[in-house]
Amino acid sequence: MALRVALGGIAHETSSYCPRPTTIDDFAVCRGDEIVSVNRGVRSALGGMLEGSRELGADVVGLLHADAQPAGLIDGSGYQLLRASLLERLRGAGPVDAVCLALHGAGLIDGIGELERDLVGAVRAQVGARAKLLVTLDLHANNVTDDLVELADLVFGCHRYPHTDFFDRGREVARHLPALLEETLVPVGHVERLPMIIAATTTDEGPAAEAAALCESIALEPGVLDCTFFHGFMHTDWPTVGACVVAYADRSGESARDAARRAAEWVWSHRDRFNPHVPTATEAIARARAAAPGLVILHEMSDNPGGGAPGDGTHLLRAMVAAELEDACFAVLADPEAVDAAHRAGVGATLPLRLGGKTDHLHGAPIDADVYVKCLTDGRFTVRSPMGGGRSADLGRMARICIGGIDVLLASRRAQVFDPAVIELNGIDPRRCRYLALKSEHHFRAGFAGLWSAAIPVDGPGLSSVDFARLPRAHTPRPIWPLDPEARLQGMRPDAETPPTP
Ligand SMILES: [Zn+2]
Repeated sequence: MALRVALGGIAHETSSYCPRPTTIDDFAVCRGDEIVSVNRGVRSALGGMLEGSRELGADVVGLLHADAQPAGLIDGSGYQLLRASLLERLRGAGPVDAVCLALHGAGLIDGIGELERDLVGAVRAQVGARAKLLVTLDLHANNVTDDLVELADLVFGCHRYPHTDFFDRGREVARHLPALLEETLVPVGHVERLPMIIAATTTDEGPAAEAAALCESIALEPGVLDCTFFHGFMHTDWPTVGACVVAYADRSGESARDAARRAAEWVWSHRDRFNPHVPTATEAIARARAAAPGLVILHEMSDNPGGGAPGDGTHLLRAMVAAELEDACFAVLADPEAVDAAHRAGVGATLPLRLGGKTDHLHGAPIDADVYVKCLTDGRFTVRSPMGGGRSADLGRMARICIGGIDVLLASRRAQVFDPAVIELNGIDPRRCRYLALKSEHHFRAGFAGLWSAAIPVDGPGLSSVDFARLPRAHTPRPIWPLDPEARLQGMRPDAETPPTP
């Protein structure tokens, strides 16, 4: 008889700093067969779980999958409605061999706490030991607790930032199902927590690339099933915040612990490399002007909607206007009011607009400018980045306006920019720009790969600033590196403290 696999999840990256709560209306919800039709062939964890299930010849039952833009604490009653609906569908599905949950790992619910612990616990309580419980998480997961690893049969995180391996990881957890059911594989997990919060660090190069390679090589050792370095989600203040390594070994807690420990010690001993200086907008523009010919990307780390920030911050745009940059594009400023005014004025109009800086005082004051309306679009496009490629995106109505030599793309909805399709939609070929400013920390690297000659990060005041001292930390466990230089990894041998010279 064919295996039966149920698919679902509630995914959110919650910033406790973000004053805007996440309500049920913020979630895009897929139910039942829609989960299959929407995710088939998409480079996402659900897409990978579907593909892995197809390869096993399994029957797939779609439960409920809900996903929302990173923002503040999730409203408790809204979450409970989503959870009840997922559990109800699971009950209605009858006996299943596995429940696959695509989660984030940094979800926080008002009055409840960690989303993943709550949801995985509820699913486990319902299915008991009858079904295997397979979970994928984002690399920026914080809530990878001992409890969670105990409740699920497998918890796999993506290794790459940009998250280009979600599909592979989803497929991988599904592929283990027959061995788990036959008990030829009995995974034992271990969580090794690191007393550190790390700035957004790409795995395309540098220390995070080396850490990912180390984890992947450890995972190939005999008896070891998996080893994942979770960077954690740093733009939040919560007792679970921080990095960790999770490893699984077949029937051996000791091997799992040893695997996780070796990776954690490597990260800890190289921690200084995870804390680079990020230039201000003015410094970054000076560096961009001096860069070799070709496209220069300025990526505004401190106002990344993908990290819970509002996406209407003006610090970088103001500096670009002041510097009178030419051949420049700014993508994307979230400002529904300004979009509406541009649409009412129409293509070819010149009008005074007040742009951005409308959410709070942290991300910069609004910019007043006379702008020219160059192009108006519906904001809909298909993602083609290796990260989530094939998915439909909708930023609401958009407007391309000009301020001097800068084309500014305005959107009705906030979103991290990680795909050139949104720029092309508005009539701009990013390869023909000299300067391209993006609201993104590192995800743009996958979609824009091969297009730029230089990528310069930009920091400033903002909810996703890499300067952790900018925001208060009342609930973060202390001591924690880099805020507390005295922080130590428990049990670390003193002679292993200094990184080996290459
Ligand atoms: Zn992430």
